[in-house]
Amino acid sequence: MHEGETANHGPRRTPSDMESGAMNRRQALGCLGAAAAIPLVATGSGFLSPARAQGQVAYTLPPLPYEKNALEGFLSAEILEIHHDKHHAGYVRGLNGTLTKLEEARASNDYEAIKALTRALAFHGSGHVLHTLYWNSMSPQGGGEPTGRLREMMESSFGGVESFQAHFKAATKKAEASGWGILAYEPLGGRLVILAAESHQQMGLQGCVPLLVCDVWEHAYYLKYQNRRADYVDRFMEVVNWDHAAQRLAEAE
Ligand code: MN
Repeated sequence: MHEGETANHGPRRTPSDMESGAMNRRQALGCLGAAAAIPLVATGSGFLSPARAQGQVAYTLPPLPYEKNALEGFLSAEILEIHHDKHHAGYVRGLNGTLTKLEEARASNDYEAIKALTRALAFHGSGHVLHTLYWNSMSPQGGGEPTGRLREMMESSFGGVESFQAHFKAATKKAEASGWGILAYEPLGGRLVILAAESHQQMGLQGCVPLLVCDVWEHAYYLKYQNRRADYVDRFMEVVNWDHAAQRLAEAE
């Protein structure tokens, strides 16, 4: 990890950009956990496109998309200042620190701390992604009703905007701990879904696109490997389908 490298936050997208299929795929892809692709509907900050330099990616705290007092009446400038400058900044710092430690683990082939590091990656990474989405999920010019494709999708997926709002509010109010209410696009069925994240550090990193997965529930290997799960995982690489992973990568980039 190199100090000073920055993520490419990209240009702001216009609503018409967001309606194009290519932009939807690229901007809206996301996931909860490695095995479930649960795209988030990003609102155009372009923050999912990382800068690449020397094979490393460092993250930076994106500026708020409005003044700190822009949401006064709903949220005070003091809340936004602490939440953005302290809490969100902490996730970015933690994410970059964790990536450095993972780089060191690979270099020394020492995976003793891998579980804690994977958890830290999920915690700080999801914190960074979700907060970036959160700032862009609000606007001093916000409110009113969605239009166009988003409105159509809300009608087909939820039966209308009012039903979406009632469902979203109910699901969000019930989310516990480091919780989030999430409106997401599910690409396999091509519909919108409402999700909640509880304890967002549960080994998933919001906003990721899964490329390759290995099922380690016992039903996947037990009849052949019994308790030797490690053997199953080691041999997984003998049949791994790189072409499919490469195709997923090309679609996601
Ligand atoms: Mn927060």
